[in-house]
Amino acid sequence: MTAHLIDGNALSKQLRASVAERAAALRARGITPGLAVVLVGENPASQVYVRNKVKACEDNGLYSVLDKHPANLSEADLLARVEALNNDPAIHGILVQLPLPAHIDSHKVIEAIAPAKDVDGFHVASAGALMVGQPGFWPCTPYGCMMMLESIHYDLRGKHAVVIGRSNIVGKPMALMLLQKNATVTICHSATPDLKAMTLQADVIVAAVGKRNVLTADMVKPGAVVIDVGMNRNDDGKLCGDVDFAGVSQVAGYITPVPGGVGPMTITMLLVNTLEAAERL
Ligand code: NAP
Repeated sequence: MTAHLIDGNALSKQLRASVAERAAALRARGITPGLAVVLVGENPASQVYVRNKVKACEDNGLYSVLDKHPANLSEADLLARVEALNNDPAIHGILVQLPLPAHIDSHKVIEAIAPAKDVDGFHVASAGALMVGQPGFWPCTPYGCMMMLESIHYDLRGKHAVVIGRSNIVGKPMALMLLQKNATVTICHSATPDLKAMTLQADVIVAAVGKRNVLTADMVKPGAVVIDVGMNRNDDGKLCGDVDFAGVSQVAGYITPVPGGVGPMTITMLLVNTLEAAERL
């Protein structure tokens, strides 16, 4: 391997220590930063994610409630629950775990969260703030990717960044954050005819697709920074990303692993956003 590893676990540990310190300072002023994690239904992956988020809060001096509901909860009842959390002074951040059951309009529920408590950064007010460069909550996964770039003191000015994927929660906000740091940004997606032609030009590549081996060594310029957001399973059932790690790490200058890369950073940035929501009071 020639690429330097950007270790999401190590960086998270460092950032969470600072979160814990800031949380202690707030508690000393009588404010305990609080996160409500709302889970509807029994999706096994969602259950793991919410458990990890709640545990991360507990480990770092934040208060958190797991607000669990059966899969048949009505949309109206969920909206009422969100409204109650909006008005709860012990709660500074609200996260509604997606996906929601099919009978519930996720967009409507996310829009019901008070923007001041939108620590996932999915509300259109948060998306709009990012778009126009105003303060607001940044979605945790791309925010975590930006922190990984910052950790290696990477100056994005004038660099070409290629983002693969254009979802509202990863690809699009990622592109806007890179743009805000003066990168020239290309967004690729499933209708991009020649992905390799794009990625070969990139100084920074962010892969956020959800398919194994979307990025292989022949698609990467030597020395490029490669950030792998993908979460997939390989043939042995082990967690892997979108990037062919073994091959690409021979060509790239920096690379993030899966597991131990963007995943822990996502939860860390949720803690940071929740803390900031409490600090803004
Ligand atoms: P998504 O909503 O399914 O979006 C995937 C994107 O990839 C779409 O924009 C799609 O294009 C594009 N795409 C699909 N096939 C492609 C191809 N062959 N070439 C180029 N682009 C292609 O997924 P997401 O929510 O953004 O998540 C992406 C991945 O990141 C998933 O594996 C997810 O599990 C992972 N993830 C990880 C974390 C973490 O904390 N580590 C957090 C969030 C997501 P179209 O728009 O044209 O369909």
